[in-house]
Amino acid sequence: MGSQQIDIVMLPFMAHGHLIPFLSLATQIHHRAGFNIAIANTPLNIQYLRSTFHQHQNPPWIHLFELPFNSAGHGLPPNSENTENLPLDQIGKLVISSVSLKTPFHNLLLDIIKKQGKPPLCIISDVFFGWVVEVANIMNTVNITFATSGAYGTLALFSFWLNLPHRKTDSEEFNLPGFPERCKFHVSQLHEFMRKADGNDSWSRFLKSQFSSSLQSFGWLTNTAEELEPLGLDSLRKYTQFPVWPIGPLLQKQLLNKSPLSSSSSTTQHAGKSPGISAEKCVEWLDMHDLASVLYISFGSQNTVSRSQMMELAIGLEKSWTPFIWVIRPPLGFDLKAEFRSEWLPEGFEARMKESNQGLLVKNWAPQLEILSHKSTGAFLSHCGWNSTMESLSQGVKIIGWPMAAEQAFNSKMLVDEMGVSVELTRGVQSSISSEKVKEVIGIVMEKEGKGGDMKRKVEEIAHQIREAVKDEGNEKGSSIKAKDDFISAIKTRKQEVFS
Ligand code: UDP
Repeated sequence: MGSQQIDIVMLPFMAHGHLIPFLSLATQIHHRAGFNIAIANTPLNIQYLRSTFHQHQNPPWIHLFELPFNSAGHGLPPNSENTENLPLDQIGKLVISSVSLKTPFHNLLLDIIKKQGKPPLCIISDVFFGWVVEVANIMNTVNITFATSGAYGTLALFSFWLNLPHRKTDSEEFNLPGFPERCKFHVSQLHEFMRKADGNDSWSRFLKSQFSSSLQSFGWLTNTAEELEPLGLDSLRKYTQFPVWPIGPLLQKQLLNKSPLSSSSSTTQHAGKSPGISAEKCVEWLDMHDLASVLYISFGSQNTVSRSQMMELAIGLEKSWTPFIWVIRPPLGFDLKAEFRSEWLPEGFEARMKESNQGLLVKNWAPQLEILSHKSTGAFLSHCGWNSTMESLSQGVKIIGWPMAAEQAFNSKMLVDEMGVSVELTRGVQSSISSEKVKEVIGIVMEKEGKGGDMKRKVEEIAHQIREAVKDEGNEKGSSIKAKDDFISAIKTRKQEVFS
């Protein structure tokens, strides 16, 4: 830490999809306000963050602090310090065990305050860490909650856990407090463990206590833009009753370099992910195909589908004659890092796709940003993780939704109902999908006219809104840039009020 004072301390949740937006936020706040920022996390995640910097050397304004964490002590496999490769029940354990970071985090703050003689301006913590509000109060500073997802999805998740039980009748549909009456949610949008939650089980009790504490924060930052989510943001503001600054989307640098977007500057290598193909090879393959003709398929960094779903997806793809790039992993029940077996796909599928040039199968990990920003990519069959969603929308790429977990089903609902840029194919890993349905949905979405054409117009409009929101040229400042500045002045004003 040296002699530098620390203005903001950040505590992201232990998942790549959270660590990277936090790092990006830190970079942007530093560039706008010159603040020095500390990021605290478990040792492996700090190493991961460090590995994203050039020659593993973090810039002097960023301070990385390791908080001791014993995963085995929480019934997790040794060295399980983030969600990667953890099954859902283990991810649950990781979420719950993160409360054990409270004492080391408290001690870290004491140390910082001792060295610099005053508390940081604020703490920015993840939505799962409601306990930080208490630490912030004790330290005479404030907690800001940063939701790395969108407003709609995060509010749906909060409202779900804070207002259990929801289904007072046998109906499969239900409303969530905070959303207008017209927003009907469906039981199939809930993950199995959410379906079982009755308000008194351990999950319900834990999340309810964390989420209600998060609602005592000074304010919220969200990884979305004002124009993108009018309903989500309006509902979130009414529900939380405190300032919500939509400062996103925090997109990755590589993508921004290729697109007219210009304001991000974070580095975002996915350390530990071995690419199944080089970006050059992907671009070469895409170059051979027509404008907006290719379907890109990926389920994010930690999901896969069941064996029967994989089979039907493959058959449907082949029948559709649509060119595709598919990031493929071993199906559910197999080690995700295991060698891919051809028996998981229809006989001869891989060879036929190669020969006809219809499909490019990428094992494990693809350069998603390069693929989405290529002119041949027309649609994205996605699990609707928030980063993937924003990357697709920012490039004007239509979506076929197949949500899996977390708030993805709510994101998918918003993409269909509020934005009109997606058709949902199915949900989860237990649904039965037919190759006919796969072919039909691909046909609708890839179409240049009709519904597919409408979706394209809408998604282009959203891509434009994103470019405008992050615009930062002279006096022309987009809504997300203004929101960042508003947030910075709010915490500076609080400092003057408290310390003058
Ligand atoms: N990603 C990638 N290549 C892949 C799969 C994922 O680069 O083969 C990146 C993708 O660009 C996105 C992130 O991993 O930035 C996935 O984040 P998201 O929020 O969409 O889903 P999660 O992995 O958290 O479920």
